[in-house]
Amino acid sequence: MTTELLKNFVAGQWQAGTGEGTLLTDPVTGEALVRVSSAGLDLHAAFAFAREQGGAALRAMTYGERAALLKAVAGVLTANRDAYFSIATANSGTVQTDSAVDIDGALYTLGQYARWGAALGEARVLLDGDAAALAKDNAFASQHLRVPTRGVALFINAFNFPSWGLWEKAAPALLAGVPVIVKPATATAWLTQRMVADVVAAGVLPAGAISIVCGSSAGLLDALQPFDVLSFTGSAETAAVIRSHPKVAAQSVRVNIEADSLNSAMLLPGAAAGSEPFELFVREVVREMTVKSGQKCTAIRRAFVPEALYDAAAQAIAARLAKVTVGNPRNEAVRMGALVNREQWQTVQDGIAALSTQTEVLFDGRQAPLIAADPAAAACVGPTLLGTRNPEAADKVHSLEVFGPCATLMPYRDTAQAAALIRRGEGSLVCSLYGDDPAPLAATATELADSHGRVHVVTPDVAKLHSGHGNVMPQSMHGGPGRAGGGEELGGLRALAFYQRRAAVQASPAVLAALGTIQAPY
Ligand code: NAP
Repeated sequence: MTTELLKNFVAGQWQAGTGEGTLLTDPVTGEALVRVSSAGLDLHAAFAFAREQGGAALRAMTYGERAALLKAVAGVLTANRDAYFSIATANSGTVQTDSAVDIDGALYTLGQYARWGAALGEARVLLDGDAAALAKDNAFASQHLRVPTRGVALFINAFNFPSWGLWEKAAPALLAGVPVIVKPATATAWLTQRMVADVVAAGVLPAGAISIVCGSSAGLLDALQPFDVLSFTGSAETAAVIRSHPKVAAQSVRVNIEADSLNSAMLLPGAAAGSEPFELFVREVVREMTVKSGQKCTAIRRAFVPEALYDAAAQAIAARLAKVTVGNPRNEAVRMGALVNREQWQTVQDGIAALSTQTEVLFDGRQAPLIAADPAAAACVGPTLLGTRNPEAADKVHSLEVFGPCATLMPYRDTAQAAALIRRGEGSLVCSLYGDDPAPLAATATELADSHGRVHVVTPDVAKLHSGHGNVMPQSMHGGPGRAGGGEELGGLRALAFYQRRAAVQASPAVLAALGTIQAPY
């Protein structure tokens, strides 16, 4: 049976790409699902339509009106939620709870931005800070403003979050007043395309506010103009290509990069084996290794414990990993589904083999039997815990991201050494700390804040209510310095700044008073 060729939505129309396209498959069964193609699209016309029609319509609205658009989008997606879970099972190979991280995470993020935007009400212009005097008695002053950029926001996304990856960017962009064009990763583009199709069919967004290009990225960056912005999520290699593209390098197209990351978890000194902080640490390491089969940019890759607890931690983590059942996500006995495809499966196997040259294997899930899946064809791999007693010498552990269910356990001598080892990740998205003494936890969080976008501190009193090491909450900034890409997303209304231009207006108090109605709350 021929598979459907998914259409692209550009210039206000559904348009099929030319050629056979690229086939998307079920990573467990190998079944052919749908095809995508962006070949032959007039991308310059697509960008011009979004810029001119979508941008003008969004800029004509107040923040409150744009917030209402987000609420309407969330309503459409909620109504179609079941279909999204079916697509995620088939195309991403994820169990329901893992699909929910992507799908419900998007709904939650849209809902938050709708609420925050509604609070800005009738405002059209955001004031940035207070007016600064430029003359005696404040008779002439400088006031900074934030206004939406008159371009499009191009999103180039990674395969692991086809839903959240779109909406965590689109919510602040649309609220800021900027139209979006999304190019999902080819491997899992189906879910993103279906969501956009539902939103378009419901007619809840103005023409040109959202467009989708599925398939190759060829030509997308060439269509960028100086007032456009580009938000990229993906590997460090692709990020480097994007950074050196002439449109970015020579035309100052603003770019946000969310790249890979060797995130850490650290059990602070003072917690005994079996203590509550120890157990919380163990539970979180296991959860992060196994949620979405470890295919989360925020997942724990490096786990640090005081030297005396290395063996106890290895045993406790291994005991929990041994209970993780792996295989076909349609089978209710399965707790962890597949990697995105067999190619990633091979990359993960190669990555574990490379790390194993400098580490010992503390738990090997690779040989465990799969449930309802053919090990020769399915992209399933059991969790693997590696370890080394000599973390200073094991340089690969601090530089190679294995994008799968694998982490490395390491002992540290003292807090200073742990912090130095964590920093060898050269900038990460998140680090989590476990303990029960507030002062050293706060000191370590501050010490590590410069090299992370987020520090997540778990103490026994928040055991049941903390949001999780790897969960990206719209209230907190997502991004990280250095290797993590140097980007910043989310963090409440701070996210709008990327889609806005800041300008100073120098004028009399009367003119400044007439400028805008609301102070930017960030
Ligand atoms: P990837 O191979 O870099 O692909 C990311 C996106 O870039 C895809 O849409 C891809 O399209 C596109 N692309 C590939 N080559 C391109 C080029 N020359 N010009 C423009 N676009 C191009 O990454 P991935 O394998 O999908 O994702 C896994 C990586 O993403 C991991 O390293 C992970 O850590 C990182 N990640 C980071 C975050 C974060 O928020 N920091 C979140 C999720 C994932 P095709 O799919 O069509 O090739």
